[in-house]
Amino acid sequence: TEILVDVQHVSKHFPIGRGLSLAKKQVKAVDDVSFTINKGETFGLVGESGSGKSTLGRAILQLEKLTGGEVLYGGSPLSGLSSKKMGKYRKEMQMIFQDPYSSVNSRLKIGEIIAEPLKWHLKLSKQEIQSRVEELLEQVGLKREWVSRYPHEFSGGQRQRIGIARAIALNPAFILADEAVSALDVSVQAQIINLLQDLQAKMGLTYLFIGHDLGVVQHISDRVGVMYLGKLVEIAPSKAIFQEPAHPYTRVLIDSIPNGKRTNKLKAEGEIPSPANPPSGC
Ligand code: ADP
Repeated sequence: TEILVDVQHVSKHFPIGRGLSLAKKQVKAVDDVSFTINKGETFGLVGESGSGKSTLGRAILQLEKLTGGEVLYGGSPLSGLSSKKMGKYRKEMQMIFQDPYSSVNSRLKIGEIIAEPLKWHLKLSKQEIQSRVEELLEQVGLKREWVSRYPHEFSGGQRQRIGIARAIALNPAFILADEAVSALDVSVQAQIINLLQDLQAKMGLTYLFIGHDLGVVQHISDRVGVMYLGKLVEIAPSKAIFQEPAHPYTRVLIDSIPNGKRTNKLKAEGEIPSPANPPSGC
């Protein structure tokens, strides 16, 4: 196995509060996190809201300036690169969001939305862009002739497909999927996960798949990392995570899955840290 992403002691702390307080307070959104993602694998990151998953994902993509640590991509450190050198990685490392339209102009047609990264990064003729966009629509299970429609004409699942088309437009190697299926109905979630797995097989993609639902994350991932209060408290093959959780918080997550599959292993109140009742000193 070849390592694609090597996360080394990454921290991201945000200052909180304002004013002239001498003791500057900080929230340790990500605190000394280390792990690796192998080429071609899906690494899942799970944890409750606010545990630092998004910040860690954004830090890996260098969308956040690190407080400490380093991220290697294909063996090369990403920090301190000139914007020209970073451009190569911006193409290779893409992102899918929960709401693919939160960051795009809603007056754009879907063809224009998908074409944006092509226009930014490649020198293509209008004709070449048009045919590439239509090819991408087909790749994600949408119709070529929908190119001139607007995002609001599509369902949630279809909109997620448009976001995926945009993310794969530049033939990336690595995709951060941040709560990419969380807002969708279960049956639509399954369709989008199928599409992601299909594209992974065809394009050799590597995913960092972030979600708060351990069942979903476990299903799609080869390995799962559990985030808790800014720390990565456990990494396990996803097949083993239900059987042999090593960290007490992982057991809390397992027990919170509401499908009745898991028996409640919580023995006594306070014995195991819960999201509502974090242990002191963390
Ligand atoms: P998750 O993705 O697991 O929900 P986040 O990474 O979004 O968690 O947030 C982790 C912590 O960092 C939270 O306490 C959040 O409020 C804080 N945080 C995230 N982004 C910022 C920011 N830009 N400024 C200040 N605090 C932030």
